[in-house]
Amino acid sequence: MEAYIGVTDPLVVVGSEGPYLVDADGRRYLDANGSWWVSTLGHRHPRLVKALVEQAGTLAHVSLAGVTHEPAARLAAELVALAPGAGKEGVPGGERLSRVFYVDNGSTAVEVAIKMAAQYWAQNGRPRRTRFITLSGAFHGETLGATSVGGVPAFRDVFGPLLFDVVHVPSPSEEGGWERAFAEVERALKAFPDEVAGVIVEPVVQGAAGMQVYAPAFVRAVREATRAVDTFLIADEVFTGLGRTGARFACELGGVVPDLLCLAKALSGGLMPFAATLATERVFSGFLGGRERALYYGHSYCGNPLGAAVAREVLAVYRDEDVLGQVARKAPRVKAAFERMAERVPGVVRPRALGMVGAVDLGGGGYLAGGGWRVYEAARRRGLYLRPLGDTVYISPALNIPEDALEALLSGVEESLREAAAG
Ligand SMILES: *Cc1c(COP(=O)(O)O)cnc(C)c1O
Repeated sequence: MEAYIGVTDPLVVVGSEGPYLVDADGRRYLDANGSWWVSTLGHRHPRLVKALVEQAGTLAHVSLAGVTHEPAARLAAELVALAPGAGKEGVPGGERLSRVFYVDNGSTAVEVAIKMAAQYWAQNGRPRRTRFITLSGAFHGETLGATSVGGVPAFRDVFGPLLFDVVHVPSPSEEGGWERAFAEVERALKAFPDEVAGVIVEPVVQGAAGMQVYAPAFVRAVREATRAVDTFLIADEVFTGLGRTGARFACELGGVVPDLLCLAKALSGGLMPFAATLATERVFSGFLGGRERALYYGHSYCGNPLGAAVAREVLAVYRDEDVLGQVARKAPRVKAAFERMAERVPGVVRPRALGMVGAVDLGGGGYLAGGGWRVYEAARRRGLYLRPLGDTVYISPALNIPEDALEALLSGVEESLREAAAG
């Protein structure tokens, strides 16, 4: 903290618009990560702002306790209609995500998914099922349950004694490929046949681990293996959900329907903290019956009308502006640009890209090793707000970023890498 406080000269941001942040001196910065991955429609999209203001004029908050309201009810129906497996015949197991539970951020979307899985088994004949299988490098949020299923040592080790026991398997993005990681999942399912409450994954790309992209075949294999032993698959799509990878949900890249699906970040487009956990009918019905079988869980802001109204408008903008089509058109450009950086800039390695995510590592030694902060500084001088994850330099901008701004962003990243590499 001391070193950080000592060297940090924070950007004083006074405004934002589309893909840009504006500082107190009136300088514009391209926001390379959509302000930690939330502003997928750019900052202050006029339709989202309008939806927020209109909703604030009628109903700003009410608890969903013996109460319902139109934004929450309609949003739930819209999410169910869009979710993986919706309206499709012949999905393995015939499952679809038919129920929506509202929370207020990505961590609590995961937290309640963990509790739903654990409570489901506790009261439906499998009380020993309390363990979760999770991936090395996983990031699922900051609450203690989400930290327990996390796989980044720096975020979890100090809390070790407070965390519940999980089984970590290698990341499918690691050397050895997804097959090796999957073999470990199968081994764990066999080793603890009646103890696994679920497997939790960030499908297809582990964001906070440094944009580690892996084969969708892994998610599919895990789905089949969890079905075979009848345990849950929890998909944390807080980062990947709503188009970032090119598909509406990354689960769809593997053709799977999870039992529980966590959504946040893009869901409310950077205007409100708002999130949802979707569940199958089977999970839902596991809580019916006596009072003691209910899910006793709720945050003050669950289903907040402002957030729900904005989220409905987010979904409408995705449809009206063909945001997924925009990603499909821009994704090849992102991929080519990151490949070029690795070819051309000494010390830059492991180019990878998926949808609107592009990344490289500063792993090639030389001046760039440990140089994330130098890249950050060089980018800032060029009017880019680019925050590396350790030695991973990446972008995950607004999905509707205009073509010229995207070009400026991509060339700015390459120039920043070059400057940092020159020492
Ligand atoms: C950001 C993130 C979370 C946590 O979301 P918050 O809204 O920051 O609590 C959980 N899972 C994944 C995959 C994330 O990227």
